Amino acid sequence: MAGMGPAQGRPPGAPDRAEVERLLESFGRHISSSLLRLYRFMGLDTLEWDGEGAICRDAEGREYLDFVGANGTLFLGRRHPRVTAAVREQLDRLTISSRLFAHEPQIRLAEKLAEIAPGDLQYTFFCNSGAEAVEGALKLARAATGRTEIISTQGAFHGKTFGALSATGRELYRKPFEPLLPGFVHVPYGDADAVEAVISDRTAAVIVEPIQGENGVIIPPDDYLPRLRQLCDRHGALLIIDEVQAGLGRTGRWFGCNHTDTAPDIMTMAKILGGGVMPIGAFMARPEVFEPMDENPYIHSSTFGGNALACAAGYAVLQAIEEEGLLEQARVKGERLMAGLRQIAAQFPQVIREVRGRGLMIGMELTREGLGGVIIADIVQNGLLAIHSLNNDRVMRFLPPAVVTEDQIDRALEIFGAAVERAAAVAEEV
Ligand SMILES: *Cc1c(COP(=O)(O)O)cnc(C)c1O
Repeated sequence: MAGMGPAQGRPPGAPDRAEVERLLESFGRHISSSLLRLYRFMGLDTLEWDGEGAICRDAEGREYLDFVGANGTLFLGRRHPRVTAAVREQLDRLTISSRLFAHEPQIRLAEKLAEIAPGDLQYTFFCNSGAEAVEGALKLARAATGRTEIISTQGAFHGKTFGALSATGRELYRKPFEPLLPGFVHVPYGDADAVEAVISDRTAAVIVEPIQGENGVIIPPDDYLPRLRQLCDRHGALLIIDEVQAGLGRTGRWFGCNHTDTAPDIMTMAKILGGGVMPIGAFMARPEVFEPMDENPYIHSSTFGGNALACAAGYAVLQAIEEEGLLEQARVKGERLMAGLRQIAAQFPQVIREVRGRGLMIGMELTREGLGGVIIADIVQNGLLAIHSLNNDRVMRFLPPAVVTEDQIDRALEIFGAAVERAAAVAEEV
């Protein structure tokens, strides 16, 4: 009886139960047996089928409120009409270009990004994911400074390719793949003194998230990014701000670093940029910093990066955020959701330690690690998708779309509150 309300019946075109079961077994054999076990454990022993806005539907026709949204990617909701229309239109004209001409979608997107980006980030390199954006940012930092050392933070998540993984601050992901890139140090997050203690004239860059996402929505002190800015300036190092999760509206401003008026030298983005329709990533830089890649455009390149389809999606995303007031929506709806979660937290302090967030990037820290699994299984059964952070099991994360309705927020709070109440009863037994 998973899902929200009664099953609507199998959606048109969806495979029957026997075929769903066969496909799941095949997933276990060809994609991942342990992911299949995890899905089944959560009660999701079917296929994700379709959806719109904040609603996700499975192949049995059951509905869920999606408050995970591919780790925040689905800020515009599923199949936002403006984005799907832009991609459809582009699909009939130019998709992957020859790469021997400039093309319109890429220029329009780069132009628009330069307009909304903080400081003097005028140049954009387009790629296909967050990790790739971080790779490019790290390469550019080395080329632009002629230095090799990078300061990152403990608990950071910057992606899982070798360079990005070298910046990522979690042993579990790093250990099996060592040795990683040399020259990286990890200091405690939110602590500018810790950066001051290790930064030198050998430092190429400091890389930080404006809010640590996968580490459990950690919001640094207000003077953190401004102080990193000063430290980098003093030592001739570059400041890389990784906006892959917080950027493009998630926190109620265009970028996470806007909240404390800090302009980076290099900025990465991905997730929301594709509107949940196309994969796309990007990094931006100041003209002086971008110079090595501007001078020789072939020292860093990507076949699919900047393709017309993905760029058409990206441009439609920025237009939608602007014209539909989604930054404001993220602030207002984030406040409603956070207020509701705080009420639940006040009722059940034995389960919830803290609720924190900015806009629609909200974390809820539980009192004990095991509680997350119990709560997630419960809410999923009742039609709400939310999950813990990748680097921190004890923090549940809520990343709903900006198009979520007030009724949907209230319904999610009901489902979540009931699950916490049941978890509290379990917590008392043990
Ligand atoms: C998700 C994420 C990445 C990696 O993005 P992928 O597209 O999964 O490679 C990098 N940095 C941050 C802050 C992220 O949240």
